[in-house]
Amino acid sequence: MIAQYDLFKRKERGRRICFVQSSGRKGRHRRKGQDASSAVDSFGARAIRAELTEQCDIVPVDKIADYDIALVSITSVYESENLLVDIAAAKRGKGDATVIAGGMGMLNVWPLYDWLDVAVFGRAEGQVNGIVQGESYPNVWRKIADPELAGSYEIRQATELLPGEKGIGCPGKCSYCQYTNIRRPLVSRGYKAGAVDNVYEDIWSLLKLKSGRNISAWDGMTEATRRRVCKPVTDSGIVRKLQAHRALGLTRTTNIKTYNIIGYPWETPTTYVADLAEMRSVIAKADGPGSRILIMMLFTPFSPEPFTPMQNENVEFHNWREIIEAEGRAVYKGEAIEAFILPQIAGPLTLQKRVALNRCGRDNRKEIGRFVRSAVTATPDFYRRFGFEEFGGYGYLSVGNREGS
Ligand code: SF4
Repeated sequence: MIAQYDLFKRKERGRRICFVQSSGRKGRHRRKGQDASSAVDSFGARAIRAELTEQCDIVPVDKIADYDIALVSITSVYESENLLVDIAAAKRGKGDATVIAGGMGMLNVWPLYDWLDVAVFGRAEGQVNGIVQGESYPNVWRKIADPELAGSYEIRQATELLPGEKGIGCPGKCSYCQYTNIRRPLVSRGYKAGAVDNVYEDIWSLLKLKSGRNISAWDGMTEATRRRVCKPVTDSGIVRKLQAHRALGLTRTTNIKTYNIIGYPWETPTTYVADLAEMRSVIAKADGPGSRILIMMLFTPFSPEPFTPMQNENVEFHNWREIIEAEGRAVYKGEAIEAFILPQIAGPLTLQKRVALNRCGRDNRKEIGRFVRSAVTATPDFYRRFGFEEFGGYGYLSVGNREGS
């Protein structure tokens, strides 16, 4: 729900300032368990509005022209995607409004470059009024001062937790994880690892299994893959925790949702079949009489994210959804333990758009904008036509796969 203003404490209106709410029209937020208001209702977005000394209205993209300054929160690459769709669909442009976009998801300016005036990299708490006034900061890019984006900017870190925030960052250093690579860890005093709703819940070794709902992440189908990406989850660690919990003999079922990544650069449809068999045999080792355990695996295709050690990796656009469905989503069914793969698996188009936005540069931003707004899966011809094979030094975007299929 969007926070309502207390009209008795209404701030003075000087310049007209608005906070932009994306329509979330592509359903990205909903698929991530959020709704379209999440970009305006996140901890950071609420803190920014509370800090502003001038009144701020929440409006959709096509109302920006009625304001002097428009603030946009970007917490993930999906918000850039939704914004590109909203901007193209808006009946009116931005008029004379100065558009300021920022947040921990503001990592590549180029996709939104033509619409933006100012980008704020990282957290803006404690500086938003200065930014609106035009002051300079090491984490703030202004198009008027640096139109070629030639300068160096820092990703500003939080120095304290916001009300309601339990922690930031993660002690892990998984090589694919942008979350940990762009955030300095900060946790509240008295913070306990292992609770379902905390930031470290996905560290398997810290998870305290209980009957009911649990969430964690294995992020690799085999121990070999997990070692390769520095994910601290071993096969024996999986078996030990499941075994110990099963032995409790609880009457209520224990559900464990595990996040998994598929399609690392060394994975192919053939390796998937072998890896699935390996995962099945690991789970089987933990089975026996006792508490019923239901493991629900959510697979997400690997995406080489900026500012991670894997940012320059190749990406193979297999249709992992089809590959997984073809092998069947049932992974294991034994005496007490059952494991299956959830049907929500992103298709190649979602991944292609994510990679395109992450690797977008100055010269291909308009083509990438068109592609991101389109509903077609890019073909090899499409890539060649738009010169997508090379993305500003970030590496290579593969259009085939190493098995030649
Ligand atoms: S993937 Fe999870 S455990 Fe690994 S660094 Fe990121 S947040 Fe931490």
